Amino acid sequence: MKIFGFDMDGVIIDHTMPKILLAAKRGFVLKPEQTVSSLIRNYIPGPILHEIQHELYDDPNYALQSPMLDGALAGLSAVKESKMPFYLISRRQNAAVAKELLKKHDLWPLYFNEANAFFVKDPIDKETEARRLGVTHYVDDEIRILDVLASVKNKYLFDQHGVFSDTPAFSRVKTWDELLRKLLD
Ligand SMILES: [Mg+2]
Repeated sequence: MKIFGFDMDGVIIDHTMPKILLAAKRGFVLKPEQTVSSLIRNYIPGPILHEIQHELYDDPNYALQSPMLDGALAGLSAVKESKMPFYLISRRQNAAVAKELLKKHDLWPLYFNEANAFFVKDPIDKETEARRLGVTHYVDDEIRILDVLASVKNKYLFDQHGVFSDTPAFSRVKTWDELLRKLLD
């Protein structure tokens, strides 16, 4: 039996365009591949990045604008049909806004709800939740998160913009189609 775990931002929700627009508003021109969480700090000074992140995750004027990744809805639907348990484990600090965004995309409460969505603080807390839930397959867009998931046997890096390299530690996918083929094989 498989037990799936999903990160929210960068796996289900696509912040590429909002990040480009919020950076442009402050005079910074970003290419899509420069918006990746671990790379954006190379292009935007810390305090400004902090402002952008605040708007992106806490300010309902901006935080409810981000679309879903292509194929995410169909993908989650296939995961649900597999009848295997699945969870959302996110580091969103503002869970209320996160739930609003999931509602807007018709993912809450149909796919994720109080029973299978968990919001935690630090990367290691994702490992604590994954271990507690018995997650066997976890998908995240950040290598530093996958690195701390010691209890998870199968790790998938969602590399939407194709900026990372393959390593033996995880399986790298660029699309939901590719992810589904690997998760549901
Ligand atoms: Mg993420």
